[in-house]
Amino acid sequence: MVLAQLGGSISRALQQMSNATIIDEKVLNDCLNEITRALLQSDVQFKLVRDMQTNIKKIVNLDDLAAGHNKRKIIQQAVFNELCTILDPGKPAFTPKKGKPSVVMFVGLQGSGKTTTCTKYAYYHQKKGYKPALVCADTFRAGAFDQLKQNATKAKIPFYGSYTESDPVRIAVEGVERFKKENCDLIIVDTSGRHKQEAALFEEMRQVSESTKPDLVLFVMDSSIGQAAFDQAQAFKQSVPVGAVIVTKMDGHAKGGGALSAVAATKSPVIFIGTGEHMDEFEIFDVKPFVSRLLGMGDWSGFMDKIQEVVPMDQQPELLQKLSEGNFTLRIMYEQFQNILKMGPIGQVFSMLPGFSQELMPKGQEKESQTKIKRYMTMMDSMTNEGKFILHKHIQNLLTELDSSNPKIMNESRIIRIARGCGRPIRDVMDMLEEYKRLAKVWSKMKGLKIPKKGDMSAL
Ligand code: GDP
Repeated sequence: MVLAQLGGSISRALQQMSNATIIDEKVLNDCLNEITRALLQSDVQFKLVRDMQTNIKKIVNLDDLAAGHNKRKIIQQAVFNELCTILDPGKPAFTPKKGKPSVVMFVGLQGSGKTTTCTKYAYYHQKKGYKPALVCADTFRAGAFDQLKQNATKAKIPFYGSYTESDPVRIAVEGVERFKKENCDLIIVDTSGRHKQEAALFEEMRQVSESTKPDLVLFVMDSSIGQAAFDQAQAFKQSVPVGAVIVTKMDGHAKGGGALSAVAATKSPVIFIGTGEHMDEFEIFDVKPFVSRLLGMGDWSGFMDKIQEVVPMDQQPELLQKLSEGNFTLRIMYEQFQNILKMGPIGQVFSMLPGFSQELMPKGQEKESQTKIKRYMTMMDSMTNEGKFILHKHIQNLLTELDSSNPKIMNESRIIRIARGCGRPIRDVMDMLEEYKRLAKVWSKMKGLKIPKKGDMSAL
């Protein structure tokens, strides 16, 4: 994601500051200037950036800080807090409840990614146990219904629309009624998008909104417009009660930071971001975990959200227990690779884990990383036996030994034997073990992680 560039620049600035022997006015100014430059490049509004700089300087008064104070930590915390303030709309968004019908109406300009996002939103909630349904009230764009129908069919989500009816209000009302009768608890209405903000579009939106009485109006916008997102969001808010925003195409535009902060300035919460064209390239957006991830500090709540999605409920406590023990074995690595491959786009998952992203998956090399993980796994597993997944004998031995001792036992002859056993070059086995050692180090940092009670991930 392009935001990684912004995050990288800010983390580098903080790192350089941390590396300085003494933190004085100059070091602090250099650091803040670097951060300012990165934010402006991401199209964050100048006033917001200037205010941020002033606030940090006020908080971090180097002269007043006694010698014992950890200046680096105070500065880092201040940067973190200020970035959160820039992105915080100060208002929570409506969350649909399972089992109770909610109507969510999508609005936005044509090409913003609205129709794609409708399905992503439905699919995301379906995976969380909701019963979503899609209604195509976009009668303006030829092919809109076909697009929604195709996406909905792929995701196995019920849909409603018409090739012949030209009144969007009528379709919206009929669709909502039908799905309420069918006990769907998340009825999503896709409305027409136009090329620009036209009066007719707003009037149509207003009518659909009045007749379907949505619990939430979701405004979808393309991140490439950067800080111009402020005016666009305001214009939509004046016509319909926009309750939340989804910013799309965060994978391809350097202005993502600008768009996010501009939306926050309109006091509308951004609840999801789109990070690609595929159905699962869609992430929940929460300010603190997002900033934490931006600064390379990981995003535990996002990671836990993913774990909840793919790890069966009864296995979650065991995995969390292993995490909190900080004891990383090759067997855990194997299991985690399996999970990671199940979790969806690999970049998304790794970027939530501190330490995993930069080295195992360098930016822009997601495909290669995925291949690498698969190669490690091929080395570790091998055959299917009566439908049961079993580990290769050599690897199994290796796992058993590593489970009970430390990786130092991996002497040369053992590595040669493993390579021969799984038919891979020695270099590949060495490579895998190196990765293991590195991840074990990262994993050990998780020691002492607070384990939430079963089903309660919010504690993290
Ligand atoms: P609509 O006119 O607003 O309904 O827009 P569409 O849903 O048809 O999307 C327009 C284009 O943007 C399509 O090619 C989508 O695949 C693409 N798109 C939507 N969301 C994203 C995203 O998050 N990232 C990327 N890269 N492309 C997206």
